[in-house]
Amino acid sequence: MTSIVVLGSTNMDLVAYVAEAPARGETVTGREFRTVPGGKGANQAVAAARAGADVAMIGAVGADDFGVRLRDALEHSGVDTDLLRTAEGPSGTAHIVVDDDGGNAIVVVPGANGTLTSLDHGDEALIATADVLLLQLELPLSAVTAGAVTARRLGVRTVLTPAPAQPLPDELLAATDLLVPNEHEAAALTGVADPHAAAEALLRKVPEVVVTLGAAGSLYAARGAAPVTVPAPRVRAVDTTAAGDTFVGALAVALGEGRPVPQALAWASAAAALSVQRPGASSSMPYRAEIDAALAPSNDHPLETDAV
Ligand code: ATP
Repeated sequence: MTSIVVLGSTNMDLVAYVAEAPARGETVTGREFRTVPGGKGANQAVAAARAGADVAMIGAVGADDFGVRLRDALEHSGVDTDLLRTAEGPSGTAHIVVDDDGGNAIVVVPGANGTLTSLDHGDEALIATADVLLLQLELPLSAVTAGAVTARRLGVRTVLTPAPAQPLPDELLAATDLLVPNEHEAAALTGVADPHAAAEALLRKVPEVVVTLGAAGSLYAARGAAPVTVPAPRVRAVDTTAAGDTFVGALAVALGEGRPVPQALAWASAAAALSVQRPGASSSMPYRAEIDAALAPSNDHPLETDAV
């Protein structure tokens, strides 16, 4: 079975649903409140586990009730949490206000995630067992860079989601095999709005890039090869939260299994398309059999696709 290690964040998403978000100094009454385990690292770990990989997570939760729930949620999805630390203080939280237009405002407080500044021998030994190391930017850059550099030294493929967008140290980029920004992150990293041109610019730093384009699919570019556009299956989206994390988790599994990139992208696109048709973040992520079924040619499948 493909082995994936995720070095990343865990956050409890605290979601308030309101008719209209409050202005500064204003108080409004919300309609509903939910706490949902999330964080880009944890989301990618759950996506990869559901897509059929052996997944272990390196990260940190806080010494609070949220920390217990975040760990439980990962374990419930089959993710190995032996190297998920419990740090003094609160877990990471994302405070999300969703209004009736579907717009949202988010404050992320890193909490325990911010305590993971470096890796130890146990982390390195775990990374050595992986086919793919998944990284995002919700942990301190020092730890993310250390993870990528370790993986590179050990010959483990590195896949970096550069979110939230921020300038990246050369050392991190030099140890990244595949960079997967969305179009906004690609633009922020390069100063170029057009995704094709941004991907081209990013290839000066990393050998392979996938720019995700929401309902428009994704764009794959590699040094020395013509770029490939992968359309997304046409589906009725009800909640696109964590579509990107579902895509990356499934992509890592397919790449770890040695599938050619175009096939891996089609599989990841199918996984993400299934997730956007259901509400929620990790709860919306499909299992391997569902992804395979969605792509089966004879099936009356749920991707009204003309694309994959
Ligand atoms: P998020 O922040 O919501 O997790 P993102 O901004 O990181 O997402 P997107 O580019 O929006 O990433 O989406 C990732 C992938 O998910 C796309 O490349 C596409 O394959 C799939 N996807 C997203 N939205 C849709 C949609 N409406 N219909 C079908 N597929 C979608």
